Order: sequence, then structure tokens, then C-alpha cells
Amino acid sequence: MSDAMPVVEFNQVSFQYHDISVLEDISLEIQDKEFLAVVGPNGGGKTTLLKLLLGLEKPQSGILKVFGREPGEVCSQIGYVPQHAHMAKYFPISVEDVVLLGRMHSRSLGLRSRQEDREAAERAMRAVEILELRRRCMDELSGGQRQRVLLARAIVSEPRLLVLDEPTASVDSRVERGIFDLFKELNAEITIILVTHDLGFVSEYITRVACLNRRLVCHHTGEITTGIIEELYGASVRMLKHECEI
Ligand code: ADP
Repeated sequence: MSDAMPVVEFNQVSFQYHDISVLEDISLEIQDKEFLAVVGPNGGGKTTLLKLLLGLEKPQSGILKVFGREPGEVCSQIGYVPQHAHMAKYFPISVEDVVLLGRMHSRSLGLRSRQEDREAAERAMRAVEILELRRRCMDELSGGQRQRVLLARAIVSEPRLLVLDEPTASVDSRVERGIFDLFKELNAEITIILVTHDLGFVSEYITRVACLNRRLVCHHTGEITTGIIEELYGASVRMLKHECEI
């Protein structure tokens, strides 16, 4: 284990919704520049885990630190792409303006010029192949296109930690490959946490897998086998689009 401060540290964290236990005794350290995949059955607690580390929910017990601080204090350093882009559907603003929202924090600190913001937004839109949609309104886009807009908004904020909840669920496989190649490039500088149901596809990008079914078990990619997944999740292994070959 590295001596450096972990990017994320869960120490015996437990969480319940209305007395129903969702996460139990989670201990996990995520180090700088890791690319961690979180897998598990529906209802296993993956989205809840992300909500805790974004500071949207608070654990009832245990300690959770992000960059050594309370999660809510470091939001500006985290880029988040939700699973569903529905919430963005009725934004009556253009794609480019949604992406520029990702620059709001640094802009409010007076760190960058408007021209720099526009250039950064253009780079991000090009990277996720939505540059030609820049003048379109969000409600004119497909689910996959909206998802890519939110991805560009997350990237353009230059986060130190990127948190992705099935970010390419509605994106076709050619574009998905391009987006994961971009994640790989970004991962040279930043830490990435990815919720996925497609361990087969992401295996060449990730460094570690966290299997979550209320409790958490971590594996380095070389250790994961179809047998381990089946043992943990039984029938849920069918959620994986490809046979796990790592
Ligand atoms: P996953 O992302 O792995 O599918 P979730 O974290 O969304 O799982 O949900 C974990 C459990 O918490 C599920 O049983 C779900 O029904 C429950 N849950 C999620 N959100 C809420 C909520 N706002 N109120 C009550 N229960 C919830």
C-alpha cells in the first residue's frame, strides 16, 4: 500500500435508508490514479456508494474522507456523470452552455478567461464527439447524446477524481470505445471510479474491481475470474454483457 494519502477512504462505513441496511462495514482505500470498477447486482448499493462519496448522503457510522476531507467540501474537485441523463432533458439551454457549466467553479474564482473556458469546452465536446451539436438544445438530443454532454461537462471541469455511473449505457459501441480511450488518457493524471455492468469490456482499462453486494470485496484485475463473480452474485453474472475473461 502507498504511503500517500488515499484519494478516497472508506473506513467501516455503514449506511441505511429508513432502517434498511444498504451498505455494511465498507472499508476501501482508492489511491491516486487508480481506475476502479464497481460491479454488483441491482440494488447492491453501487449508486448509494457514489452518493456517499459525493456528499449527497451521509453514512450513519464509519469514516469517509475524499482527498482527506469531508466529501461535501471537495465537490469542485470531483467530476460526476450520472447513470441517467433524464434530469438534463428539460434544460432550455444549449449543449455548449451545459458544458460551460463545468467551468463555473474556476470561473467564480476568477482563475480563467472566458476565451479559455470556450476553448476547453470545445476540446471536451470534440473528445466525446458532440461538437456538431453545440448549438442544439438539450431537449433535442437522444439519451446517449445527453449522456455525452454530461460527460463533457464533467471533463471540462478538470476534476482530480472522475466518478462515472454507467456513463456509456446509452452510447453505441464505436463511440463507447472512443470514450474509454479518453478515460485511459485522463487516467494518466486523475483517479477514476466507474460503476459498470460490463466487466468484460472495461477490463483492459481498469486497475481494480470492487464487487459490491451490500458488503464489498476488492480484487486486482488479474485475480478476477468468472468463478469469483458467480460465487458472489450467482445468477446476476448474466448482467455482464461479455464473459469475464480477466
Ligand atoms: P445499485 O446502484 O447497486 O442498483 P442502489 O444504491 O441504487 O443500488 O440501491 C441500493 C438499495 O437502496 C436498494 O435496495 C434500493 O431500493 C434502496 N434505495 C436506493 N435509494 C433509496 C431511497 N432514496 N430511499 C430508500 N431506499 C433507497
